[in-house]
Amino acid sequence: MNFELSEEQQMLRKTVRDFVDHEIMPHIGEWDAKSHFDTDTLKKISKLGLMGVCIPSKYGGSGMDYNSLAIVCEELERGDTAFRTAVSVHTGLNSMTLLQWGNEDQKAKYLVPQAKGEKVGAFGLTEPGAGSDVASLQSTAKRDGDDYILNGQKTWISLCDTADHFLVFAYTDKEKSHHGISCFIVERTMQGFSSKATKGKLGIRAGNTGELFFDDVRVPKENLLGKEGDGFKIAMAALDNGRFTVAAGACGQIMACLEASVDYCHERKTFGKEIGKHQLVKQMIANMEAGLQMSRLLVWKAGELKNKGKRNTRETSLAKWQACDFANKAADDAVQIHGAYGYSNEYPVERYLRNSKAPVIYEGTREIHTIMQADYVLGYRKDKSLDQMLPEWPFED
Ligand SMILES: Cc1cc2nc3c(=O)[nH]c(=O)nc-3n(C[C@H](O)[C@H](O)[C@H](O)COP(=O)(O)OP(=O)(O)OC[C@H]3O[C@@H](n4cnc5c(N)ncnc54)[C@H](O)[C@@H]3O)c2cc1C
Repeated sequence: MNFELSEEQQMLRKTVRDFVDHEIMPHIGEWDAKSHFDTDTLKKISKLGLMGVCIPSKYGGSGMDYNSLAIVCEELERGDTAFRTAVSVHTGLNSMTLLQWGNEDQKAKYLVPQAKGEKVGAFGLTEPGAGSDVASLQSTAKRDGDDYILNGQKTWISLCDTADHFLVFAYTDKEKSHHGISCFIVERTMQGFSSKATKGKLGIRAGNTGELFFDDVRVPKENLLGKEGDGFKIAMAALDNGRFTVAAGACGQIMACLEASVDYCHERKTFGKEIGKHQLVKQMIANMEAGLQMSRLLVWKAGELKNKGKRNTRETSLAKWQACDFANKAADDAVQIHGAYGYSNEYPVERYLRNSKAPVIYEGTREIHTIMQADYVLGYRKDKSLDQMLPEWPFED
């Protein structure tokens, strides 16, 4: 165990922090108010090499370890959940899935431009009738010669209007229940594909979320990821990586809550003293600090298991569940500490509270993770070894 960041990781943290302070913080209030997803900022994040930080250099990434991805997510979410979500779906859910399951042709065609930040990837699993219950999905892919014909609809898909490539899950054999789901790499430019952003979201308003539609989309058989029927397994493995990034981001959300709250504690006086000197306010600050430190340890443990090429579904689920709950509570307390001022957009904490809710819902709701953890402890759930794992770090050349 080594809890010290390497020099490279410290430099990475500083680079992302400076970027967030200069390129996101000054504008985020306005973008959030206008529900504007700033694609120029996403391009700048790509140019900094942050879209492929833990992808091996032979596939166009920076070749850093998996905990370096956690550092990127933590620092980005300190600015806003929208940009961390972008990295979560692009790197965690899409690129790392291509790295784990793709063949060399698929990696050359899709992973390399994504890791370099030239193309954006996203992940289409959820449907109007299928969220937690993935096997209820209705999308279908029927084999026709050298292609599959894809039909269906996805909803709540992050980067729906922005991404170039999507991992899409559909039934190739409905009879086989979840063993009949397959995963396809779909390009935005394929005929019959369309997308539409969702309006009126509670939070992550500076992000892009919405629906995908597939109307007889012809997907070449070369774009099947893994084998027919591997889709459910691939989706669950992808979530091990997506959830890791969500948990790391939640640490950044807590950092932002702490920064704003500590400043306000020193600024605001009641009953003749700074509010930070009242014991009940101290308790909220202490809980935030405890949440941050505990969450970060859970994240780094999951990251270390990834570095060693070991399964980490249980550890990642625990980190995601706890970190998101801590962040949601930290944001609630941050508003409380600000009193009525926290209830207006004069201060950023109301945005933190709105943003902190989606991560408690996506990539496994609080309830799903609670059940998973209980089932591991009770012996009802055991992880089998997977036929494909993420490469261990340090990566081979
Ligand atoms: C901002 C945002 C971005 C998203 N981005 C993506 C994306 O990029 N790609 C993607 O595929 N999806 C995405 N999602 C969708 C997200 O993953 C789903 O919303 C999530 O999986 C929950 O599914 P659901 O909303 O259908 O809720 P449901 O599954 O219908 O759950 C409703 C409620 O019932 C509870 N519940 C369900 N089953 C059980 C059970 N067995 N035991 C106890 N309680 C249960 C849930 O915890 C929840 O409280 C996003 C969602 C949001 C809000």
